[in-house]
Amino acid sequence: MAQDKLVYADNAATTKMSKAAVEAMLPYLDGTYYNPSSLYSAGQRAKEALEGAREKIAKCLNADTKEIYFTSCGSESDNQAIRSAAYNGALKGKKHIISTAFEHHAVLHTLNRLKAEGYEITLLGVHENGIVTAEQVKEAIRPDTALVTIMYANNEIGTIQPIREIGEVCRKAGVVFHTDAVQAVGHIPVDVKADNVDMLSLSAHKFHGPKGVGVLYCRKGVPLKSFIEGGAQERGKRAGTENVASICAMAAALQESCANMQENAVKLSAMRDRLIQGLTKIEHSRLNGDRDRRLPGTVNMCFEGIEGESLLLLLDAKGICASSGSACTSGSLDPSHVLLSIGLPHEVAHGSLRLSLSEYNTEEDVDHILECVPPIVEYLRSISPVWEELVKGIKPHLI
Ligand SMILES: *Cc1c(COP(=O)(O)O)cnc(C)c1O
Repeated sequence: MAQDKLVYADNAATTKMSKAAVEAMLPYLDGTYYNPSSLYSAGQRAKEALEGAREKIAKCLNADTKEIYFTSCGSESDNQAIRSAAYNGALKGKKHIISTAFEHHAVLHTLNRLKAEGYEITLLGVHENGIVTAEQVKEAIRPDTALVTIMYANNEIGTIQPIREIGEVCRKAGVVFHTDAVQAVGHIPVDVKADNVDMLSLSAHKFHGPKGVGVLYCRKGVPLKSFIEGGAQERGKRAGTENVASICAMAAALQESCANMQENAVKLSAMRDRLIQGLTKIEHSRLNGDRDRRLPGTVNMCFEGIEGESLLLLLDAKGICASSGSACTSGSLDPSHVLLSIGLPHEVAHGSLRLSLSEYNTEEDVDHILECVPPIVEYLRSISPVWEELVKGIKPHLI
């Protein structure tokens, strides 16, 4: 049967722009296109739009407008936060950084670079349920710790970290705390004050805003270094003419996501739970990450004896857009570092499937996924030499 409609279940990779976001963007593309730094009144109208967007975003996070810095993406925000805290720490002789093994590559690769620059990096292990505890952070903090950076919610398995408790530990120890909240903002409640966060990264295209625009929140009193030199935009912390249209769209998208958060979460978690219930019926399968402490729309499963990539190709033929891990690692043959971090053996981690829903998905989408996945898994197992060895008892089942 030909699938005429796409079932988009890869919202952790990116999301469709909302109508509100598109509409908020248009007037600044073909009307008020002026440079917000220009002194004439037309430029000042662009400036007003920019500052209005900053106010909206600050409100959604319970931040002050002076704590919001616009960047070009979540990755840039992560890079700036981490390098800034690292270099400021070094000025006081502190060159130790704590993070986790299952961060996004924007964090892990930045930390690798800092390691080459002489920093010492402690990557905390992740519990089998995909959670890092405040206790682990407390034990790892040393007198020379400059920064703790831990993601709010994981982009592959969707588990939510105890950010508030981790933040409290860091605040008490006087250590800067950054969180990559790209998967959390717009999806679950985030409050920078209550969460004891010093720095936070977010990205518009993960909550129905445009790609190529993000925010770095930096708490008042926490020093922030600039890495893109040029004009005095963003109070001298991030040069470059502001992307007014995208910033306005980001603010509209975030406002809408926050206003509908509760309602969306109820709808999404019901669809997510139906997926989990249906897919865990497949024998020798497992749900990755804590059953309950997870994002409302994210499901990550492993099916023993198959390759995630083959599963994705056959799902694509059925009109289903999904992922085996993160978009960044798709196409590489290495299993996901996230799945390895929660203790899955390589063979099992290879057979993973991430389905991430948004409020634009329907119950029919879930039905279609639940109809398609089990026979495809069965077919792939029927032609899998690995599965044959498992069935014949040559190798033991691992899940
Ligand atoms: C998508 C994502 C990023 C990167 O954001 P970009 O805007 O695409 O650079 C960083 N961290 C996490 C957790 C993400 O999901």
